[in-house]
Amino acid sequence: MAKSIMQTDKCVCYLCREPANYNDPLDKHHIFGGALRKKSEHYGLTVYLHHSKCHIFEPEAVHNNAEICRKLQADAQRAAMKKYGWTVEDFRAEFGKNYL
Ligand SMILES: [Zn+2]
Ligand SMILES: [Zn+2]
Repeated sequence: MAKSIMQTDKCVCYLCREPANYNDPLDKHHIFGGALRKKSEHYGLTVYLHHSKCHIFEPEAVHNNAEICRKLQADAQRAAMKKYGWTVEDFRAEFGKNYL
């Protein structure tokens, strides 16, 4: 399994920067889902998020909030371009879209 290239500390939430807690553990979120989930995993475009507050359920959770979803996609594109030396075109060839 590839390591996240977006975050080194797996014990802290990428969005709120707080550690996991008993009521809300951290989940691994794939920045690009569906057909691109495997590529997200392969290139390390994943982050750890509080399951309820930041990942799935609450208003600021990435699966509930298009703006935050889009921000993470842009962060992931920047991280991938830097890490792999990709241009925007290279990124688009892999992920189908430019998020910047
Ligand atoms: Zn959080
Ligand atoms: Zn997710």
